[in-house]
Amino acid sequence: MSESGGKPAERKGAARRKAALDPRLAEYRGVWVFVERDEQGVHPVSWELLGAARELADQLGTEVGAVVAGGAEESLESHCRDAVAYGADRVYQTVHPVLAGYRNEPYAKLLCELVKKHKPEILLLGATSLGRDLASSVATTLETGLTADCTELAIDRESRALAATRPTFGGNLLCTILTLNYRPQMATVRPRVLPQPKKDHGRSGQIQKEEIDLSEEEMVTKLLEFLPHAGGDRLDLSLAEVIVAGGKGLQRAANFSLLEELARALGGEVGATRAAVQAGWVDAQRQIGQTGKTVRPKLYIAAGISGAIQHRVGMESSDLIVAINTDPNAPIFEVAHYGIVGDALILLPLLTRTVRGQAVAAKTIGLEVYSSS
Ligand SMILES: Cc1cc2nc3c(=O)[nH]c(=O)nc-3n(C[C@H](O)[C@H](O)[C@H](O)COP(=O)(O)OP(=O)(O)OC[C@H]3O[C@@H](n4cnc5c(N)ncnc54)[C@H](O)[C@@H]3O)c2cc1C
Repeated sequence: MSESGGKPAERKGAARRKAALDPRLAEYRGVWVFVERDEQGVHPVSWELLGAARELADQLGTEVGAVVAGGAEESLESHCRDAVAYGADRVYQTVHPVLAGYRNEPYAKLLCELVKKHKPEILLLGATSLGRDLASSVATTLETGLTADCTELAIDRESRALAATRPTFGGNLLCTILTLNYRPQMATVRPRVLPQPKKDHGRSGQIQKEEIDLSEEEMVTKLLEFLPHAGGDRLDLSLAEVIVAGGKGLQRAANFSLLEELARALGGEVGATRAAVQAGWVDAQRQIGQTGKTVRPKLYIAAGISGAIQHRVGMESSDLIVAINTDPNAPIFEVAHYGIVGDALILLPLLTRTVRGQAVAAKTIGLEVYSSS
């Protein structure tokens, strides 16, 4: 070990963080977000990232940049204006026929060129399939550090570096990673982990057109056709405003219908733990947690769920958490705003009846009932 002299590990870390940044990198400024989009429009994670970028940039006293790119046929203007409304000071807009539809090669080339030209100190992407694919290529090409699948972003005061926090060791530990001597500092963040900022149409920002030299002949991959996911109306649990989730405590597959009924009454969706998915009680696309979806609904009802850390990381940012469990010591009660100690098989039908009753009563007197629809 090079560091000796009996210094505590923490102080050694602090001393190392104070080390001056390589002068070559000191000129890097600005917090950038890659705006992910497809035929359906911009992925909401990009706006969530712009909200975080705004806060980070304000702390650093720098500006927020957004990268918006696409093919010649696409109208990118409204996405650029939205990026400003969500917090960008400057939007780097690139239009080129080769950029129609996502492919790793041209997009990685574009981001690398823009970074080399404008030198942002932080570059954020969504931890979506596209974002993960693109971020890793950009980071390896630029030979810089990338922290994937973060759940929290902050600025380390001593070093001014991005402190990117992510779960590790099967979700049992949270680790915060700093990229001290490489720029830009890159991170991908899961959708719905960060709050969506308010759209402020009064904000002003600059839209800057950027050229890129690309040729279709040089592209190895070809985009022949875009096929929307089979079953078009694929469930997007991460966007549900009400989720009624169940775990092993529901005891058998048939009891998941109790969750479905309550979810329907509340205008929400059914979610599940990995244990329930592995038991074959529910489809894997409904799994919530570290190896499933991250959700942030207005209301999360957890029925028969113990609250293992791997489940909690996927739901603990929900606005209101109600837990039903027979065990008063179940860890889920540590994150629940309201807890009911009792049998979910009895309580779920009672709740459904109460919600339905309220809906009927409210309708008769013309009130709106809490519902996502
Ligand atoms: C690498 C890794 C990744 C993982 N990823 C995920 C993930 O993404 N999502 C996830 O959920 N898990 C994940 N897990 C698994 C996780 O550790 C837990 O095993 C799992 O979340 C437990 O699910 P559960 O709460 O349904 O079951 P249990 O832990 O068995 O809990 C069942 C609960 O139901 C209660 N109960 C029993 N009967 C009733 C009743 N009648 N009414 C009310 N309550 C009742 C019990 O008191 C208990 O608290 C992962 C694990 C690892 C190692």
